[in-house]
Amino acid sequence: MDANIVVMGTESVGKSALTVRLLTRRFIGEYGDIESIYSHSFMVDGRELTLNIWDSPYTEDLSVEASLLEKKKVQWADGYVLVYSICDRASFNTVSRLIQFIKSTKDYLSTDKTPIVIVGNKRDLHHRRTVLSEEGWMLALKTDCHFYEVSAAENYHSVLMVFHGLVDRMKDAKLTM
Ligand code: GDP
Ligand code: MG
Repeated sequence: MDANIVVMGTESVGKSALTVRLLTRRFIGEYGDIESIYSHSFMVDGRELTLNIWDSPYTEDLSVEASLLEKKKVQWADGYVLVYSICDRASFNTVSRLIQFIKSTKDYLSTDKTPIVIVGNKRDLHHRRTVLSEEGWMLALKTDCHFYEVSAAENYHSVLMVFHGLVDRMKDAKLTM
């Protein structure tokens, strides 16, 4: 079975760090901004599931072409990892906007569990925190999404939880499997 996942959020929140951490278990530190789609397979309920993960750079470009591409990205995906940094308030606001964008582009039924996971990254930098955990939880509650606070730098397990949580969510939504 195959499922498509897109990782979205503003620049430098750790989208590539999360993706690479899942794939290699490693945190390298610097990632550049090469756009790629990675494949990652694991077993779910005794069956192999392949995730195609699109590590997608953020664009502020408001042209028609750019917004068409954003729509295509959203259409392509079965599940969404929306990342912000707990030290970056603007990145949190963007996640909130992305949720609305995805919901309006995909037209989920109100009964569907939206296959969206909200991720507050850089938990290790708690001394520089500007977005409270409670705010993440509230947003998730309001929009019916999953929520995790993680550190791609310091906690591989927390990163694994994000992607497993999303797979569960997609199963609930019966979009895959
Ligand atoms: P992207 O632009 O969203 O893909 O962000 P990157 O994955 O390239 O990460 C941006 C910067 O944040 C890099 O310098 C990373 O080393 C750093 N970074 C990513 N995740 C974490 C984290 O969990 N903790 C800390 N302290 N730094 C992180
Ligand atoms: Mg990146």
